[in-house]
Amino acid sequence: MTGPGAGQDADRELVAASSRVLAGAGHADLIWGHSSVRDREGRGVWMKSAEWGLEEVTPDRVHLVDPDGRVLVGDGARHSEYPIHTEIMAARPDVGGVVHTHPAHAVALAAAGQPLRPVSHAANYFVPPEVPRFTDTADLVLTRPLGRAVATTLRNARAVFLVNHGIVTVGETLREATVAAVLLERACQQQLLTASAGGWPRWSGPEESLAKREHIYGERAIRAVWDHLVRKLPA
Ligand SMILES: [Zn+2]
Repeated sequence: MTGPGAGQDADRELVAASSRVLAGAGHADLIWGHSSVRDREGRGVWMKSAEWGLEEVTPDRVHLVDPDGRVLVGDGARHSEYPIHTEIMAARPDVGGVVHTHPAHAVALAAAGQPLRPVSHAANYFVPPEVPRFTDTADLVLTRPLGRAVATTLRNARAVFLVNHGIVTVGETLREATVAAVLLERACQQQLLTASAGGWPRWSGPEESLAKREHIYGERAIRAVWDHLVRKLPA
């Protein structure tokens, strides 16, 4: 299909695929958690509608939300935490996709007050610098000022822990933001496993981390990881 609706259809399909990938990667939390893509016409973000689990998202359950929370295209109930998406997009012109979920291991690690450490490959995608921690509130991000505060804590990073709540990851594309969310939860799980093993944990220093980031997480590899995750989705 071509014409004005084609981009819109592709964006809705992308949000649906991202949601289902996240569900398959341990990010499902009943009906909570959402990802978004920036609207090509600058009207807001395409995100899943509320009251569906991530694994249930289809393109027709994705709608366009503006920075004031109005649903401009599509239907269904709107997620109350839409300002996470719209305010980060406003603060970060480089960002085309945002993920917000409540994955168990990331929430546990952040709640424990432990900084993310590169004990395996995954955390090197983020560290250094340290993954920022948003602690203004653990309550829902319901307002534009709170969304802006999350964006301020995120600054130019790839991810932020919403302590006692969840995570936010961003990317130039939603594909990239989704892969980042998958990697962040894996990294946290591996760190918790390491801590539970006792012994004398060690992790990569900053120089090794940056080298590993370059060697493992090139643009092409991130795209291939996305394709792999989509191939693994149940038909
Ligand atoms: Zn949330």
